Amino acid sequence: MADSGGPLVVLENVNKYFGELHVLKDIDLSIDRGEVVVVIGPSGGGKSTLCRTINRLETIDSGKITLDGEPLPQEGRALARLRSEVGMVFQSFNLFAHKTILQNVTLGPIKVRKVPKAQAEEEAMALLERVGIASQAGKFPAQLSGGQQQRAAIARALAMKPKIMLFDEPTSALDPEMVAEVLEVMTDLAREGMTMIVVTHEMGFARSAARRVVFMADGQIVEQSTPEEFFTEARTDRARDFLSKIL
Ligand code: ADP
Ligand code: MG
Repeated sequence: MADSGGPLVVLENVNKYFGELHVLKDIDLSIDRGEVVVVIGPSGGGKSTLCRTINRLETIDSGKITLDGEPLPQEGRALARLRSEVGMVFQSFNLFAHKTILQNVTLGPIKVRKVPKAQAEEEAMALLERVGIASQAGKFPAQLSGGQQQRAAIARALAMKPKIMLFDEPTSALDPEMVAEVLEVMTDLAREGMTMIVVTHEMGFARSAARRVVFMADGQIVEQSTPEEFFTEARTDRARDFLSKIL
């Protein structure tokens, strides 16, 4: 299953409503293994909802989503496994406040993947090393800077050995001087071949790490292209208008 060729994640004709509000409209999106896709677009366009449907934090009303060729599980142990296979990093760091950074990273592997504690700690330290905060392992989240907390959140997601990582505006809540350190970790991940969907307006990251930019507005994928094309010659008025506001 894991080694089958073809795309890793496929959304076909996905529709999602919140009451009367049609938030995802006939979304078709296919993401290859190792591909990095940046999703960009105005607030309220459905970007977060799109991410949340992929790890089934949100259900969909019609259409189909597959991961590794399998439909997303609906419940139970299979759903817990899915959540571990789809790593998610949010705008707010969402670390467990009363656990140390090391405990934050080892909790999932110990509880969900049943990894022995000593091994989980060894792997966690290697991940914290990789994101550059090994020296913070014994501290609590509140003792870390925002950038360090976000890197801890990335390490925590990676500890579950995900097939894909979803990043939902991972740097928007950070002070400007901390944005680069988080983008650097993400750029390294991309370079190492991680499949990633990244909602961000960081164009530097999109240009250096993304293969594809997906522009989303009003619940629709309005256009998609390479970062170079998108940032220099967006095809739709909607995208050009959006870019004129963020550039
Ligand atoms: P984006 O991430 O692009 O800003 P969202 O996916 O967060 O967009 O939101 C898309 C639309 O769905 C918005 O109009 C938002 O207000 C609405 N929405 C998001 N989550 C909910 C919810 N849980 N209940 C009702 N409406 C929601
Ligand atoms: Mg959002």
